[in-house]
Amino acid sequence: MELGVYVHIPFCAAKCKYCDFLSYPGQGKAKKDEYLHALREETRLYLRNLPRFTVTNFYVGGGTPTCLSGGQLFLLLDFLGGLLQPAAGAEITIEANPATLDREKLRALKKGGCTRLSLGVQSFHDGELHSLGRIHSRQDVYNTYKLARRMGFSNISLDLMYGLPGQEPAGWRESLREAVGLEPDHLSLYQLAIEPGTPFYDEFKQGLLQEFEQDRAGEMYEEAIGFLAAQGFHHYEISNFARRGCESKHNQMYWQNREYLGLGAGAAGYLQGVRYTNQKNLAAYSEMVAQGVYPIGEKEKISTELAMREFMFLGLRLLAGVDKNSFQERYGITLQERFGKVIQPLKAHGLLQEGENSLSLTRRGLYIANEVFMAFL
Ligand code: SF4
Repeated sequence: MELGVYVHIPFCAAKCKYCDFLSYPGQGKAKKDEYLHALREETRLYLRNLPRFTVTNFYVGGGTPTCLSGGQLFLLLDFLGGLLQPAAGAEITIEANPATLDREKLRALKKGGCTRLSLGVQSFHDGELHSLGRIHSRQDVYNTYKLARRMGFSNISLDLMYGLPGQEPAGWRESLREAVGLEPDHLSLYQLAIEPGTPFYDEFKQGLLQEFEQDRAGEMYEEAIGFLAAQGFHHYEISNFARRGCESKHNQMYWQNREYLGLGAGAAGYLQGVRYTNQKNLAAYSEMVAQGVYPIGEKEKISTELAMREFMFLGLRLLAGVDKNSFQERYGITLQERFGKVIQPLKAHGLLQEGENSLSLTRRGLYIANEVFMAFL
């Protein structure tokens, strides 16, 4: 059995104003050491109980994994590598905030086997970074990126955001140009969403922050697609662009609806037909692991019917679309038999297109992808 692994590090230096990810800002060394200990025990728990599996990729996300010290980062990668024994050539990604990486940490990541860095850049404008509550500056991005390249990181992805408060198309264009100027291997572009429970949401409720107009955000997305294509990037998923061969293996695993092991507080996983989310509370998470039980907070058995729907709305995120043969092999029914009545009107409206063995979004469908996905729910 082949598996990908997601590892969650729920710590950040400070909370960004738009963030609803699970992260606890300002935790000290002792808390982080304790958490790493629990993470190691949780990994051992799965190794004791699961059938033998081969790890093809793992992804350490957060939070901000790089707000761990160099020593803690090495320890983390060392025990994950030692226990999980990733296959030769496995993709091992670490998410990083440009303000939290230095030579010592990069050395620790290299030594620990990290093959890919994902840098949360978001914008190349200090004013925008400040309004988002990011702790880094534009200059931090340049310094960190160049240092990482000099230290031999050959696969670097940059995250950018659009639809930011007060953002103009010219500013977005500038951020894109600066990002491409660094010659990254991969780019992820996300539209800002105002999520409940965040400072931005409070400002929005008080009328201090406007929601970005969807049409303007759509134009920014469209412009990015054209610009990045002209720069030689392969647009392979709604929000993701890569140099050929640098597409993220880990994320493709999600979009192909494959199973994966999720480790750490708040981490999601999908194993043996069950989707689960771990305890979010750090003390409860550690306590359960110490008692030798999986630290799961919520879980749901995925029926075949739901798995087929997930296969569709996850797979259609890929520009190559879903593979009709794979669908039939997994579920013993053809795509036409199960979803023909859903697909037909979407095709008639020019939102889906069929190839010999694929079904994918059209260019028009790409811009209203969520509406297309809803039809499969
Ligand atoms: S660095 Fe990432 S995880 Fe941490 S608060 Fe900001 S957006 Fe959230």
